[in-house]
Amino acid sequence: MTEGTPEGVCPVLPSHGRVRPVAQVSITGGFWATRQAVNATATLAHCESWMERLGWLANFDRVADGTTAPDRPGWPFSDSEVYKLLEALAWETGRTGDPEAEVAIKRLTARVTRAQDPDGYLNTCFGHGEQRPRYSDLEGGHELYNLGHLLQAAVARLRTAGEDDLVRVARRAADHVCRTFGADGLPKICGHPEIEVGLAEFGRALGEERYVEQARLFLDRRGHGTLRDIPLGRAYFQDDLPIREAEVWRGHAVRALYLTAAAVDVAVERGDDELLRAVERQWERSVARRTYITGGMGSRHQDEGFGEDWELPPDRAYCETCAGVASIMVSWRLYLATADVRYTDLIERTLYNIIATSPSPDGRAFFYANPLHQRAPGRPADGTEVSPRAEGGSRAAWFDVSCCPTNVARTLASLGGYLATADGDGLQIHQYAPCAINTELPDGRRVAVDVETGYPETGTIRVRIAADEPSPWTLALRVPAWAAGATLITDGWARPVEPGMVEVRRAFRAGDVITLELPMAPRVTWPDPRIDAVRGCVAVERGPEVLCVESRDLPHAGGLDALAIDPLSGPRADAGGVRVRGRLPGHPDRPWPYPSATDSVDDTEWFDVPLRPYHSWAHRGPSSMRIWLPASLPPEGEQRA
Ligand SMILES: [Zn+2]
Repeated sequence: MTEGTPEGVCPVLPSHGRVRPVAQVSITGGFWATRQAVNATATLAHCESWMERLGWLANFDRVADGTTAPDRPGWPFSDSEVYKLLEALAWETGRTGDPEAEVAIKRLTARVTRAQDPDGYLNTCFGHGEQRPRYSDLEGGHELYNLGHLLQAAVARLRTAGEDDLVRVARRAADHVCRTFGADGLPKICGHPEIEVGLAEFGRALGEERYVEQARLFLDRRGHGTLRDIPLGRAYFQDDLPIREAEVWRGHAVRALYLTAAAVDVAVERGDDELLRAVERQWERSVARRTYITGGMGSRHQDEGFGEDWELPPDRAYCETCAGVASIMVSWRLYLATADVRYTDLIERTLYNIIATSPSPDGRAFFYANPLHQRAPGRPADGTEVSPRAEGGSRAAWFDVSCCPTNVARTLASLGGYLATADGDGLQIHQYAPCAINTELPDGRRVAVDVETGYPETGTIRVRIAADEPSPWTLALRVPAWAAGATLITDGWARPVEPGMVEVRRAFRAGDVITLELPMAPRVTWPDPRIDAVRGCVAVERGPEVLCVESRDLPHAGGLDALAIDPLSGPRADAGGVRVRGRLPGHPDRPWPYPSATDSVDDTEWFDVPLRPYHSWAHRGPSSMRIWLPASLPPEGEQRA
């Protein structure tokens, strides 16, 4: 930590690693700037007004005023939504200096501060009046989970503004946690991991090693049956196996991923290579066998959890938006530790196909679950209702369990912090957006570049050097794994480049331009046959975007059930968008859909099927939708388009 010097928009700042995140990135236009602006002007106020309306904010006032009752509005974790909103607001003030966000932080902080007990305990659901006693339900009570989000909000405040009341409240809460659950305290953990990742980062931000140590203690206590068994089993909250022994992510996806993010933090801070390797192993198998093409994680609704290997049904996909946020948290930490490009590749996939999918264009409605196949159109959105369920095919203004909107808000507000890194030799750019980057290398040299691009609409990325530097440094650009055939252009000379990091090293002069050309033709993707739920289907991707078909773009309602496409003639892109050749075979309706032999289906005309980015599905109103499309190979000898 640098005393008195806010670092900027930087959610993760390890004390060491292969590379350091660059906080001085300003996204100046394009795909993500639009979403950041909507987040700032609509989503932040939307979240606060819902929490006010539902009494989640007044819960803090009731504790402060001594007027609590045995029950209160909201789930036990509703306090965390206030903290996630505070985190989003803090990143927003760091990003733009928005005075309204600053006022909102002060307004919310004042209410939170009043509710804190003298010993640092802070919770609106337990421990006051006739409420249940403190820490009497560690499996389901979420008390430590809530505090983890408070600490992350305080990190955002520290790094963008410096120490203030919010940070002081968080310090008292963190000290209370260390006193209560330290080596000599209660040998317990929280059912929902989050306190660990909050403590680790808060410790780094303040230079307080004992907070990181408390995170380690919680991590190592987990996995020994420390929590009570529950009907879903202890794997639900990752208390079935010590994290060092686990081979794959299992149980509730958000819990598994928040825990893993903390494990990377602890591994890095303590030089614990064994723990880091364990997490890398879990990432590898979980990404190879338990992750959707969208980057979505979690294929079971009953426990919001990971399925077995290859259990990736498209229609029953859960893919909670929060699991996407948490997956990015894990991969970013792993990238900073290892500089392995596979992590930033997965971040891009998750950003475009989960994070961008959740919010509506107006920033006032959200997807919670992100299935890859919606069989029945959702109900038209009602902006005045609280959705009681996570799924449904329409973005909802708010949810009974409303973890996702504030999670999207804090991610979008801090997105600039995930675009670039630096090391002793230069600058690495991982995610492409029009932006200005101006940072200092560890040896004090200043590096400034402007990125100009229409990505992901176009694949041309121009990096213009904005400042002379007489000694050579290296500019590295990520070539995504999907971008076979990419080209790098320097001084008018083009050369093919492979997926991975491509480097240009020289004494750059202001005005030098390096251009990366990524191939943006749509491409057909086949699933591993072991993902049997989509065997025989293909998906179409374009750049970082997964595409889908919506029923409203087909000739008749219900067509999506029968649609089959020709994967061999290949998708085409023109001014009207991406199209693929498909047909709607007629299938006879029967009283029993399991005949003894397959019928020959009616041969029908081929036609052009429009595809759209999955992140934009249901923007035009309720629709059924699918990403994985059955492949229909035309009969031998038939003329191809
Ligand atoms: Zn969520």
